[in-house]
Amino acid sequence: MTISLLSDEVIRKIAAGEVIERPANVVKELIENSIDSSATDIQVEIVAGGRDSITVKDNGCGIKVQDVPNSVLPHATSKLSHFEDLNDLMSFGFRGEALASISAVSKFRLKSRSSAEAEGVELQILTEAHLKDKPRLIPYSGPVGTEIRIEELFYNVPARRHFLRRAATEYGYILEVVQAISLAYPHIHWKLVHNGKTTFESMRVEGEDFTEQELFSLWRVKAQQMFQLPRKDVFCEVSAQNPYVKLAALITPPGVDFANSKRMFTFANKRWLKDKALNALILRGYQTHLLRGRYPGCILMLSCEPSLCDINIHPAKKEIKFQYQKEVGSLIVASLQKALRSAHWVDDEPNFASSSPPSTIASPITSSVSSLQRPSSLQSFSSQPSEKGGTFSFSSTPSFLPPASSSSPPAVSTAGGASAVMDPILAAGRMNFQQDGKIPWQQLRYIGTFGALYLIFEDSRGQRLMFVDQHGFHERILFEKLTQDPAFLYKQGRQKLLVEHKISLSPSTLGKIQDNAEQLLSLGFVFSVDEGGVSIKEVPVLLAKRSLEDVFEALAAIPLGTSAQDTAAWLLEDILATIACHSAIRGGEVLSDQDLKWLLACAESVDFYHNCPHGRRVFYFVSKKEIARWFDRL
Ligand code: ADP
Ligand code: MG
Repeated sequence: MTISLLSDEVIRKIAAGEVIERPANVVKELIENSIDSSATDIQVEIVAGGRDSITVKDNGCGIKVQDVPNSVLPHATSKLSHFEDLNDLMSFGFRGEALASISAVSKFRLKSRSSAEAEGVELQILTEAHLKDKPRLIPYSGPVGTEIRIEELFYNVPARRHFLRRAATEYGYILEVVQAISLAYPHIHWKLVHNGKTTFESMRVEGEDFTEQELFSLWRVKAQQMFQLPRKDVFCEVSAQNPYVKLAALITPPGVDFANSKRMFTFANKRWLKDKALNALILRGYQTHLLRGRYPGCILMLSCEPSLCDINIHPAKKEIKFQYQKEVGSLIVASLQKALRSAHWVDDEPNFASSSPPSTIASPITSSVSSLQRPSSLQSFSSQPSEKGGTFSFSSTPSFLPPASSSSPPAVSTAGGASAVMDPILAAGRMNFQQDGKIPWQQLRYIGTFGALYLIFEDSRGQRLMFVDQHGFHERILFEKLTQDPAFLYKQGRQKLLVEHKISLSPSTLGKIQDNAEQLLSLGFVFSVDEGGVSIKEVPVLLAKRSLEDVFEALAAIPLGTSAQDTAAWLLEDILATIACHSAIRGGEVLSDQDLKWLLACAESVDFYHNCPHGRRVFYFVSKKEIARWFDRL
């Protein structure tokens, strides 16, 4: 066996395999070069999903004639000359391998002109001979900037070409790339043309440094289109920072969620990422607001000192490592949680005829949350103080008494006589509570329980019925009380068991219980760990009627989390959610009057109750009008 050095051409083909897997990767690399060249206009033209051709045209600084031949050589870059420079790099490229790779596996043309005074040049690598020997160079006198055209990607790597998907699929990937990157660069005019038709365009917004508020309003418009939502005011804005990182995000509120993570757009220093760990942190922030298996939509941007993060850990630069990973993680989780809890809720008039679940985006009209920001003409529908005759308020009828017969004002009125234009979609949610989203639980009139599952209330003005899922509601209230003060659990009392309750547990379950013993003891459990199980002596009274086997199994089943997720605070939250779930009254159990009063009093002392800690919806309204419709009274 002899060892020989690989030829340059082979090295380039191998390198191409790492970065270029499909047309979308080509588009991404070319777009990033255009951004690095300070372009303000980037046009992407593709044919057959990029399988036939990809052209990216920009009005950037261009490449000097003498540099053009170098631009397609491996490790040729104008962006980095010392390794140390890697530490504070803001440009996309730095490895100098994109053009070398792409030109090795396609029929490649690069036209560039660096100034109106100078001639430009066109470089062609159309055959294996061009690749091995020398590219072809011809004069070019087009506009200043660069145009790169790729035809027949992988024409000389049949195995790769074979793996390309249908044009429509490849087009989908390309659209995603262009849309995503355009979010971070509003000062660039973006255009995507597929088979001769413009399929995406984003106009240039003057300026380069946008304020957070400007970004939020731009994103609202884009996200509404991209997520196909009926309104742009459903989003929550998140803005937070610590010494290591700054975060700005637009996120969908609880109740607006999707079946996959395709609408989660994340960026670090304006670089679009597809980072599983980062997505996991976002989901963590949504933890108690989202059903398992559902995903939010978001545009989330992190900015940090380039020296505090490493983008060089992934061949396509889709992942990032932060020097202060934990601090970055906590900021993301905490700020999302905070924003989601204070999201304002608008209650919709549910349409019982619709078969789609009300909390999903399948029926957009019923998306159930309002935004932090809404058009000023609509402000009056949501911000009316309750005591001033607003129709959304509750009167002060004492709880559990029949409502005073009142001649209710019309269902919608405007504050201070301001003229308001009724947005048809917002109109459906017009019976919302006042701005702080508080429901005066104790002032509702309890009508009864349906099917031993749902509590039914009437608002004190007799304007609507409210159905409450007794388990989910109880669970959320307990969870809130517990997170406010974990001692709430044993403050409700502890119950000494007459005989020690022995539970046998598998070694791994037992191990987890042992690991968390301290936290469980601090919550009011008294137990000892023996061989093969635990002996329980005392439990919080809320859990007294429950199967302790189930409770301990559930506690042990909490995933301990890995890496960044593994913090004590999150673990405690999971423990509290599990306890809340097991303490809460079940469907099928009957709530006594006393329990109900206690529950409603608790509900008034917490500031969030819109969904259970698993993300399920907790209550639902039916307006008088809706009921009138059933009986043809409208
Ligand atoms: P990198 O981006 O890592 O430097 P590339 O192979 O993508 O490597 O590009 C090589 C070089 O070609 C760049 O460093 C840049 O100088 C030049 N270049 C590529 N595309 C453009 C463009 N659209 N406008 C101006 N210069 C470009
Ligand atoms: Mg590059």
